[in-house]
Amino acid sequence: MKAFAYVNATSEKEAVAALSPEFEKALPIGGGQDLLARMKDYVTQPDRVVNVKAALESAVTPASSGLRIGAAMKMVDLAEHADVRRLYPAIAAAAVEVGTPQIRNQATVGGNLNQRPRCWYYRNEEFVCFKKGGSTCFSPAGENQFHAIFGSGPSFIVHPSSLAVPMLAYGATFRLAGPTGERLVPAADYFTMPTLQNVRTENVLKPSELLTHVLLPAPGSQKSGHYEVRYKTSHDWPIAFATVLLTMNGPTVQAARVVMGAVAPVPWRSTAAEQALIGKTVTEETAAAAADAALRAARPLSQNAYKVQVAKTAVKRAILRAAGIQTV
Ligand SMILES: Cc1cc2nc3c(=O)[nH]c(=O)nc-3n(C[C@H](O)[C@H](O)[C@H](O)COP(=O)(O)OP(=O)(O)OC[C@H]3O[C@@H](n4cnc5c(N)ncnc54)[C@H](O)[C@@H]3O)c2cc1C
Repeated sequence: MKAFAYVNATSEKEAVAALSPEFEKALPIGGGQDLLARMKDYVTQPDRVVNVKAALESAVTPASSGLRIGAAMKMVDLAEHADVRRLYPAIAAAAVEVGTPQIRNQATVGGNLNQRPRCWYYRNEEFVCFKKGGSTCFSPAGENQFHAIFGSGPSFIVHPSSLAVPMLAYGATFRLAGPTGERLVPAADYFTMPTLQNVRTENVLKPSELLTHVLLPAPGSQKSGHYEVRYKTSHDWPIAFATVLLTMNGPTVQAARVVMGAVAPVPWRSTAAEQALIGKTVTEETAAAAADAALRAARPLSQNAYKVQVAKTAVKRAILRAAGIQTV
């Protein structure tokens, strides 16, 4: 690992001051579950690492009519938090499936939302891909079993954060702090699709900014379902997953929110699936029809067509869960 300076920031101001406007010159560290691995693999080589765990909030507190979640909160605490479980159960469901107990004990909310892609080309120092300032994405012509089935490049990573998907579904807002002050960015605008002009990062966070906390709006009366599909049930990233929120009018769906994960470079909302649900009673058939609609525009690569069916299953089961219908 390249030698680096270490700053143990004790306030938001101190942490922001220790960052740099230069890309990856100074990086915040939460639990280090992602950053340290990238540094050991020479994928990311900052001159300075800024510990933000004592600088940012690490608790859930009431805010307006919703909740405020500190970026330094550990994933284990988020998964077990009584109000999060009661009011935003899909967030707790996503948090509890992240990695292993040891990883959840270290990993933070800010780090989870800002972790970098797990693409094996990006993670291998030998491949200078778009994400590392190169001029190509190796996955379309290479090994792409776990890559995106939505979006048309130029990079085909899938967003690695499980938490990002329910955050988008619930309409969370992220508070960012930088040298010129703060800004509030809806989760729906935070994550960015790759373009040739901006392919190195996955979100709008500037190098000199921090994500300080997440604001969740009032929970409302919607019911939620979250479903993840993995190769194995032990620690692993999901192949595809979905968060579904349903607002019911008696037995009929009045409004729906369907967001998929691990299928695109950003959490992928499907308005087609939402439209397919509105006005319907949830049954195996209507859930399957909405799942079909969710995946209709998928464009798999050479080795990941199987993900289309996996994602359909995740969406269908998340819908059924949200409706309180037993799934496997
Ligand atoms: C075997 C295994 C299985 C896993 N499975 C899953 C899974 O299923 N789902 C999932 O979501 N993750 C999974 N992970 C990834 C793991 O959850 C993340 O690495 C972890 O959540 C990152 O959090 P951290 O606090 O350790 O981040 P760090 O490593 O400290 O930081 C990650 C990145 O975010 C930046 N950062 C940290 N804090 C902030 C902040 N406050 N503001 C702005 N930027 C910040 C850092 O600079 C860094 O670039 C898995 C990891 C392993 C090893």
